[in-house]
Amino acid sequence: MSLPAIAIHGGCGTLAANLQSEADWAQTRAHLEAALRAGWKILTAGGSALDAVEAAVVVLEDSPHFNAGHGAALTEQSVHELDASIMDGATLAAGGVCTVRAIRNPIRAARAVMDQSDCVLLSGDAADAFARSKGLPTVANGYFTTERRVQALASLKARAARGTIGLASEAERHGTVGAVALDRQGDLAAATSTGGFNNKPAGRVGDTPIVGAGTYARNGVCAVSCTGQGEVFMRRVAAYDVAARMSYGGQTLRQATDTLVFDVMSGHKIGAGLIAIDAFGQVCAPFNTLGMARGWIGTDGVLNVATHKDVLRMERA
Ligand code: ASP
Repeated sequence: MSLPAIAIHGGCGTLAANLQSEADWAQTRAHLEAALRAGWKILTAGGSALDAVEAAVVVLEDSPHFNAGHGAALTEQSVHELDASIMDGATLAAGGVCTVRAIRNPIRAARAVMDQSDCVLLSGDAADAFARSKGLPTVANGYFTTERRVQALASLKARAARGTIGLASEAERHGTVGAVALDRQGDLAAATSTGGFNNKPAGRVGDTPIVGAGTYARNGVCAVSCTGQGEVFMRRVAAYDVAARMSYGGQTLRQATDTLVFDVMSGHKIGAGLIAIDAFGQVCAPFNTLGMARGWIGTDGVLNVATHKDVLRMERA
C-alpha cells in the first residue's frame, strides 16, 4: 500500500508574468488546480495512476491556457496537429497518437490505442479514424484555435521574414501538458499531450507521443513527462534517460531530473522542463526557462500550484 501522489505541468513555454492579466493568471492556476483535483479524486478513491493521469490531462487539454487540445499550437498552414501518449508503469503498456486533427482529447485516443489495439503509436487520419471508431468525440479543427496561438503564429512568421526568429520567446514557440502519478497499489503512470511547436511544418512529430522520449513510466523507478524542444528530447531519449540514471546509475529522482534539465538540456541551449515522480511519491519539477506551469499533491496531501518561480501552497486537497 502506497500513499498516492500526483504532479502535472502545463509546459515550460510560459508567458512572462506581465504579458497576461492577473485574471488570466488566476484562471490558469484554477485550471491547474482542477486538473490536480480530477486526478486526486481518482487516486484517493483507490483508482489507478493510469486513470488519474488521463483525467488530469483531459482537464489541461480542455483549458485554453495550455498548448494541448483547445489552445494548441498551429502549423505553418494554420492547422492543428496534435500529439499525445500515455504509459502504464505496472505493465509497460503504452499508447500514443501523433498529428491527429479531429479527436477532441488526444490523450483519450492514446489510451484507446494502448487498451484497444495491438499498436503503440498511430498517426494522422488513421489515428483520428481509430479514435472515432472507439466512440471518442471529434471536433472541427478550429475548435482547438485560440486568439493567443493565432497571434503567436503571426508573430513567428513575421520574425522569420525579418530573420529574428532567434529572439522569439519560449511562450511564442511551444508548450505541452502532462501528468505523472503514484497510486495506492504502488503503480506509476505518465501522460503527455501537446500541439507541438507554433509554425511547425505539416507532419512534424515531437517527443510527446514517443515512449521514452517525452513520456515514460516504470514501476519501482519513476514516471516522467517532459516539455521543451522535442527533437532534442527524442535524440536524448530523455524520459527514459531519467529512469536509466536512477535504475542503472543509482541516482535519486532529484539528481536524475536536475542532471537531465540543467546539464544535458541546458547543454543543448534549449528551454526544457519535466515533472517526475518516484516509487515513494517524491515529486520533482525542474525547468530552465522563466516559468513552467505546474502543480502537485504530494504524499502529505497538500496541493501546490505555480507558474513561475514562486509556489503557491494551498490547504490539504
Ligand atoms: N515537446 C513539445 C514538442 O516538441 C513541445 C513542448 O513541450 O513545449 O512538440
